Amino acid sequence: MAGKLFRMTINCFIILCIIAAPALSISISFYSAKGGVSSSSSESFDLDDSTSLQEDITLNSGQISLDRQAEGTGKNSLKQSISGNSYVLNNDIESQGRLSVSTSAAASPQAASLSQDVAGAGSMSLTLCGTQGSGEAGQEASVSYGAIGSVQDLSVGEGVFASQSTEMAGLEGYVGMGAVSDERALVATGGFLGAGTMSASLSFESKGTANAVASVSVDGKRWLEDEDLKNVNRNGMVMSLEGLRADQTGNLGTFSMRAADLDRADYDAELRSRPASNAESASKDEFLQDGAITSTILYLNNPSAYLLKGWKWTAPDPQIKLILKNDAVLASKGLDADATKNAIAAAADTWDNAVAKNLFADGNSLVTLDPGAKVDAQDNKNVHAWASISGGLAYTRTYAYSGVAVESDVVYNSNANWATDGVNNYDVQAVATHELGHTIGLADLYGKAQFESDTDEMMHYYAGPRRSLGPGDRAGVQALYGPSGPLYCMSAPYTTL
Ligand SMILES: [Zn+2]
Repeated sequence: MAGKLFRMTINCFIILCIIAAPALSISISFYSAKGGVSSSSSESFDLDDSTSLQEDITLNSGQISLDRQAEGTGKNSLKQSISGNSYVLNNDIESQGRLSVSTSAAASPQAASLSQDVAGAGSMSLTLCGTQGSGEAGQEASVSYGAIGSVQDLSVGEGVFASQSTEMAGLEGYVGMGAVSDERALVATGGFLGAGTMSASLSFESKGTANAVASVSVDGKRWLEDEDLKNVNRNGMVMSLEGLRADQTGNLGTFSMRAADLDRADYDAELRSRPASNAESASKDEFLQDGAITSTILYLNNPSAYLLKGWKWTAPDPQIKLILKNDAVLASKGLDADATKNAIAAAADTWDNAVAKNLFADGNSLVTLDPGAKVDAQDNKNVHAWASISGGLAYTRTYAYSGVAVESDVVYNSNANWATDGVNNYDVQAVATHELGHTIGLADLYGKAQFESDTDEMMHYYAGPRRSLGPGDRAGVQALYGPSGPLYCMSAPYTTL
């Protein structure tokens, strides 16, 4: 429609506006009180002229009930805040493109609940969170250049409960969920870059303690499950997963997942360490790139760029040992177990040679063979295996306690073609070097505008059978484990193994 429809009903009063202006900004605030207690609501909308909004509000003796429908295209922003005696509930929708949203909320001075059904095409971001006393729970979902559908709930009263069931397809997607209690913070995030799909079903609760159920899939493969959250929740740890994937057009993309159970103090410190300006988009951007909230960005626009994941191996000489799963899947790829083992060992030595510490074990104990070794299960063994991944090339799953890594598994996609000859197919040693970079604490550089020119780094895109570290890889690993001695300084930067 050419004009704008804005209709609002309060009790028996109906306000109906049709405005032909190119854009409309509306702010609505009201409260309902009884006996000295009240609940209140404030909303602000920036609506495109193609957008219609209808809202029905009933105020009665301290209670508020509200039903809102918005439909439109163009650029729209809907912000809503509902508060009572000891709670606040915030609901933000930013969209560029087609939008359809239906929201129902009910509030009293003591409690509130909100249900929302959102669909959109284009780019959209959704943030819905609640705070009650020191407890918080909330959720985020966003998609760029795609489509999203999300059913969301949030309630505050006896604890804070948040849930979302979200499906999306696009060029970039993100979901996040968290619950915070006095003592602990439990968070789960997932995202992808490059044309892909994601589906997420997440429920988080802060009620004395933080609890959650979750499942997140990218390209139809489930990467985050209840068991992962139970594991991190039980052990107070962080599980982080970062992978390279081929998107539907064959271009390389990435995905990452993180589940973390943190001390409340550490969580608050993480939030404080986020960049002050544009904190929300910056933290989301960091997540999308590397799966970690606590990335350290150094040397922006400098050829020695690196990013840290927020963990390291802390033994004086970690001597990390690796296990290659030499099973039938490996053999079916035409990969010789010894040649593959040597390629992975050479990848580990590449990092080891750049640092002062003895980061990886030496000689024959570095990579051993075990056909029954397990990935995707925490057993304190660092297993490299070939397995079928839908859409993925390789991923690393790392477990850490308070920034101390204890296990890191690497999975190579058995649906891709691999070789160890340094010429054909995907090069095992090059991919192993990149993935082991994650194992020891480095994050991906690709997909980030500020690192577009840093293509010499191992932690950038896969670029054929490149096997030597770039200056940023070297700077990053040395920041974590100290520089290698003078002998290595001369030769290591340009050594090709
Ligand atoms: Zn990576």
